[in-house]
Amino acid sequence: EEELLPICQSISRVFARLGEKDVRSRARLKFLVAKLGIEEFRRLVLEDREGLSEDPRWTAHLDDVHEGHDGPLWQIEKQDKATASPELEEWLATNVTPQRQPGYKVVMVYLPLGDITADQIRGLADLARRFTGDAVRMTVEQNMALRWVRESDLPALHEALDELALAMPRAETLTDITACPGTDTCKLGISSSRGLARTLIEHLEERRGEMEEVVRGLRIKISGCFNSCGQHHMADIGFWGVSRKRNGYNVPHFQVVLGGQWAENAGSYGLAIVAVPGRNIPAATDRITQYYVDEREGEESFQAFVTRVGKASLRTLLQDLVEVPLYEEDRSFYSNWGDPREFTLGDMGIGECAGQVVSPVEFGLQASEREVFEAQDRLDQGDSSGAADIAYRAMLIAARSLAREKEVGLGEAPDDVVAAFKTHLFDPGLFHDPYAGGKFGNYLFRVHGENDNGFEATPATARQRIEEAQLFIEAAHSYHVRTADVVSV
Ligand code: SF4
Repeated sequence: EEELLPICQSISRVFARLGEKDVRSRARLKFLVAKLGIEEFRRLVLEDREGLSEDPRWTAHLDDVHEGHDGPLWQIEKQDKATASPELEEWLATNVTPQRQPGYKVVMVYLPLGDITADQIRGLADLARRFTGDAVRMTVEQNMALRWVRESDLPALHEALDELALAMPRAETLTDITACPGTDTCKLGISSSRGLARTLIEHLEERRGEMEEVVRGLRIKISGCFNSCGQHHMADIGFWGVSRKRNGYNVPHFQVVLGGQWAENAGSYGLAIVAVPGRNIPAATDRITQYYVDEREGEESFQAFVTRVGKASLRTLLQDLVEVPLYEEDRSFYSNWGDPREFTLGDMGIGECAGQVVSPVEFGLQASEREVFEAQDRLDQGDSSGAADIAYRAMLIAARSLAREKEVGLGEAPDDVVAAFKTHLFDPGLFHDPYAGGKFGNYLFRVHGENDNGFEATPATARQRIEEAQLFIEAAHSYHVRTADVVSV
């Protein structure tokens, strides 16, 4: 304990001295550790620690550190449960769960979008002292949990939370949507995850009266890009922000990911179905949930339902929502949720219809997405080898569609495609992702090498290859968006 702060200080000092300064995406401690090796990094930290002058503040907090209460609290006067209002009843049903220790409850303070004001958080601190003995825990659902709440204190706690506007029911239900910062504040954000979450909460709250109980229990999570900070891959219904070029413009989309498991320590990830324009996500959510209600067998879970009906039928369900109207017909498709700004058309001029302009690159990338989908279907049917081959083919189609812009006469032979991709896009660093560097391009090289060496697919390796193909194609889209001569939303 005495060494905790000085060691942290030395780690910071070593990182400040030797960490990446020029390429912001690599300005992470993990890259420095990878570069130096953990042993050398440890040596440098300990060496720096020896040179630090003693500072009493390193240990001044230790006397207080164990004073935080985490256990049963004092008796509080019993409340009369018989007077429970409908609001209290609903809150008890959705925000309160039994604790392992008999007589105590965990109370979830539902914070839409994870937001809380300064006054609310001060008030909540007071309530934590009054009802739980000082401890509040943040949750991955962006809520706050109060533990060790006596059952008899629940009405009083609800009333006190209500005064702070923190007694909103329906925590950890369909409308309690988790969203990363997205384009609001994250430089890597592609789509507005918070804007979509806000819209979806309003949309689903309006429909709550007619919603089946089984739908209310589903979870939605949203990330603004593939980095997954919103945990979209471990939700019943997940969305992650992508950009697609449609009608000559970059249009914010969300990739729909269904069937992820948020319980049991995120036991399985959902699978990508199709990218849908952001404007159509509320409609897509309605369709998916209604399909579940209509086609559910017995007590079937959403994960089991997604597996049974299969990705092909879910994609068909959403197919018409993939369409993007022309800019002149509906400009809302060309801006992010919650952000009214539209791009300027620049020298194209307002009213110029670009609807027919679909570049060969776009065709190629769309074709590669269809191949990946086919690969997933094959894998579902138990054909690992076929699935792996098709996933490889999808990567080649995407790579060729980009490389042909540089080498017009490029053929389809895999060796030629990979060589052209390497020469024109990978080696000059053009394909490199601002965040992940050459990671996605290297997927293609590895898979190409595997195929040359008699690769024999198993279900696990075929699935990995499909996921890598999806990421490679996503990187191809990003490259195309970065480099194409179009107006950006
Ligand atoms: S998922 Fe992407 S947009 Fe969201 S916080 Fe992470 S890096 Fe930023």
